Amino acid sequence: MAHPIEHTFATPTEVQPGILRLTLPLPTGPRHVHCYFLRGDDGWLLVDTGLGLMETPWDEILAHLDGPVVRIFITHMHPDHVGGAEEAAAATGAQVFQGRLDYAQCERVWGTDDWPERIAEWFLRNGVPPEVADDLIESGHVFADFVRFAWNPTLVDPGDEIDGWRIHPTPGHADGHLVLHRGDVLIAGDTLLTPITPAVGLYPDSRPDPLGDYLNSLHLVSELAPRVSHGGHGEPVADPIERCAAIAAHHEKRLDFTEAALGSAPRSGYDVSRDVFGVTLAAIQRRFAVAEALSHLERLVALGRARRVEDDRTVAYTAQLAGGRPPF
Ligand SMILES: [Zn+2]
Repeated sequence: MAHPIEHTFATPTEVQPGILRLTLPLPTGPRHVHCYFLRGDDGWLLVDTGLGLMETPWDEILAHLDGPVVRIFITHMHPDHVGGAEEAAAATGAQVFQGRLDYAQCERVWGTDDWPERIAEWFLRNGVPPEVADDLIESGHVFADFVRFAWNPTLVDPGDEIDGWRIHPTPGHADGHLVLHRGDVLIAGDTLLTPITPAVGLYPDSRPDPLGDYLNSLHLVSELAPRVSHGGHGEPVADPIERCAAIAAHHEKRLDFTEAALGSAPRSGYDVSRDVFGVTLAAIQRRFAVAEALSHLERLVALGRARRVEDDRTVAYTAQLAGGRPPF
């Protein structure tokens, strides 16, 4: 079924007083990404910047605003959010703010040359056959040349405020993901989406249990209890607490599937991804599937429901019972 947001516009539209939404095109995935303009005392705060793959008509966009963009805030370092940051900063003259951990990972992935090799090694280690690994690496790095993040942004930390918006950490979809909360509104980045479910994957050098992080982040959002949440893709979330519960339940079910894929013989993240997500996936989807299978496997390990078996070359997983119950 076609998604309601089929078109992208260079015209920001008001989603509520003081908050404008700008929708930019993406060549893949959900096909669009939302940025937000939040009204501040001395101008607008722009949240996220699109991919920057197609040149964004910033002059045309900015002409719709009744004041200057004075600050830019990045929720997380994925290409569709940070890729256009340099261009947006140049077009507005605004200062860019990005999370400290998020910027470190942004530089490591998009600002260095060795990331493709490091992720290749890591895929092989997780059981991806070499010929498949080549495809996965290529598909994952297709955007790399287009990502123009802003170098040396002003680094922010959880608990800081920007234009009266409190910055909260919501690791999971990305380790350094940050959201903005003010009054009863959440600007959620990709932490809370509808109708799609944010991807939660394990990647090289990422925090050890991203799904555990993410479930905690959903809990945090529930406690903030915003009336509405505006995310990076899809529709505004009209009942954030309910949506948090639904996404948590989705992962509980997927944890059960993942656990069911394990037995006494060690199985790799790649093998398990074929059980949980099917055997016929395009390279880019397989990449997410492997990362997502691994985040669920590591959560199961943390819960004592699976075991990780590793040597110098490979990582694999077995059912917890295969080696007997833990002695405590
Ligand atoms: Zn996104």
